[in-house]
Amino acid sequence: MDCLFCKIIEGSIPSRKVYEDEFVYAFEDIQPQAPVHLLVIPKKHIPSMNEAEPEDAELLGRVLLAAKKVAHDAGLADSGYRLINNIGKDSGQVVFHIHVHVLGGEKLGALNA
Ligand code: 5GP
Ligand code: ZN
Repeated sequence: MDCLFCKIIEGSIPSRKVYEDEFVYAFEDIQPQAPVHLLVIPKKHIPSMNEAEPEDAELLGRVLLAAKKVAHDAGLADSGYRLINNIGKDSGQVVFHIHVHVLGGEKLGALNA
């Protein structure tokens, strides 16, 4: 599978892991857009939410709960943070393996800025 994030999960491409369990992997973004910028991915390869199916509901819930956990572990529980999921061309998605961005550690700009 020629997928960057699948290679990160299997360890053939290095990453700075912050959390892992049976279903989910989380790591630091290589080009942080905020003081805290983490990525949370399912271990199952799903290109984007466009390809997610009802059978993935539990897995996607696990991804969101892992995003909360890594945000809290990074000290963002009280200050707040933002979760972002890009889907397709107009969103700017460049890696086609579902990922949730966890952004925080500063006052974030307005969504339409
Ligand atoms: P997208 O635009 O697809 O939502 O976000 C992809 C994210 O993956 C970007 O924020 C980018 O910096 C990050 N990224 C791309 N390649 C690598 C890599 O090799 N390692 C890590 N840790 N992050 C990466
Ligand atoms: Zn993948």
